[in-house]
Amino acid sequence: MDFELGEERRALRQTLRSFFQREAPTAEISRLDREAIFPREIYNKMAELGLCGITIPEQYGGNPMDEISRCVVMEEIARAGGCLIYAFAPSVAFCGVGIERYGSEEQKEKFLPGIASGKIRIAMGLSEPNSGSDLASLATSAVRDGDNYLINGQKIWTTGADTAEYIMAFVRTDREAPGHRGLSILLVDRTTPGISVRPIPKLAAQATHTCEVFFDNVVVPAANLLGPVGGGAKMIFSLLDAERVYVAAQACGIAQGAFEQALTYAKQRKQFGTEIINLQAVGHMLAEIASEIQASRLVCWHAAWRLDQGLSCSTEASIAKIVATEATTRCIGKAMQVMGGYSYALEFPLERFWRETKLYEIAGGTNQIQRNIIVKNLLARDDIDYFP
Ligand SMILES: Cc1cc2nc3c(=O)[nH]c(=O)nc-3n(C[C@H](O)[C@H](O)[C@H](O)COP(=O)(O)OP(=O)(O)OC[C@H]3O[C@@H](n4cnc5c(N)ncnc54)[C@H](O)[C@@H]3O)c2cc1C
Repeated sequence: MDFELGEERRALRQTLRSFFQREAPTAEISRLDREAIFPREIYNKMAELGLCGITIPEQYGGNPMDEISRCVVMEEIARAGGCLIYAFAPSVAFCGVGIERYGSEEQKEKFLPGIASGKIRIAMGLSEPNSGSDLASLATSAVRDGDNYLINGQKIWTTGADTAEYIMAFVRTDREAPGHRGLSILLVDRTTPGISVRPIPKLAAQATHTCEVFFDNVVVPAANLLGPVGGGAKMIFSLLDAERVYVAAQACGIAQGAFEQALTYAKQRKQFGTEIINLQAVGHMLAEIASEIQASRLVCWHAAWRLDQGLSCSTEASIAKIVATEATTRCIGKAMQVMGGYSYALEFPLERFWRETKLYEIAGGTNQIQRNIIVKNLLARDDIDYFP
């Protein structure tokens, strides 16, 4: 076993840390969130740095990274700002990977260079008002009409839909097929007549809007169908493993950010004649945060390593998501406790981390659904030792 992150990944982390300190300081991210302004300039600079190409093959203008390096990138972007990771992850880490894996050559040439250069962003339209965890209840319909599909229905919680160039829409192409079988994926130009988008006022990362999207007789060329008709659910499930590992990594990033803030503060802040880190109750909270981050990173990187090896990762991705996201919620709470009243100040990123952290337990499949997946996988095996 090799527990070394390696020089290249350490250098990557350092580069990203400096980049975001310079280009996306806490005060600027807070301002963008308060004013709900999409961080376009920062996103463009992230693309210039090559971040938007980390999942894209070189022949399409990308600079692909291994899965553990991708986790390092996810950590640093999430730590810099929820609004940045909400804009980045659906497009680069989900839709980009989906097109690379299932797209036709024509689709790859059309979308992948644009994603890598930051000129194309794709929002992910899966959730609907009456279809959340239960994918089989997805109702937005796409009916074939000659060379086109006609889409009608509604999506909800589509992050970045108002600023993205495209929406990866999960649609029902066969009303008769049971459950998951009749689902397909269409790449829809967001400016197509019949689409209207309405941002939902929300708790955190307000700079990247999360939206309702309405489809009213929207005509989409059949050439924009991704993968096989009726193959939507299979494609989603295969993409969600990596998505869960990335969510776990993002959670690690904000836990690490909170930890560093609280540690620095506890070494400086004096009460009762001593730095508060010397008060055992405070020191213990910091020790607990450090332990939770360590445990979270290990399960996250283990799952990422399995992805890199081409090994099955369903159980490990779900474990990583549960462990890291729930640990992070606890870590942020403790970090705030260490900083006392100052944790409320907008000057520090802690209040932002606190607002952003809950989503990680919900998005990418709720943590209850992750537990269901683990149990299902355990039931399907004869042995109980799933560790390699
Ligand atoms: C800020 C934000 C951004 C988002 N961005 C996107 C996006 O870009 N694209 C997109 O498609 N979606 C997005 N989502 C939606 C997100 O993926 C869903 O909220 C999530 O999948 C859960 O669905 P739901 O909210 O409908 O909850 P529900 O499925 O209604 O679940 C409600 C509760 O019931 C529990 N539950 C449901 N079924 C089971 C079960 N079988 N066993 C045990 N417990 C169960 C859940 O765990 C949860 O606690 C976003 C959500 C938010 C809040």
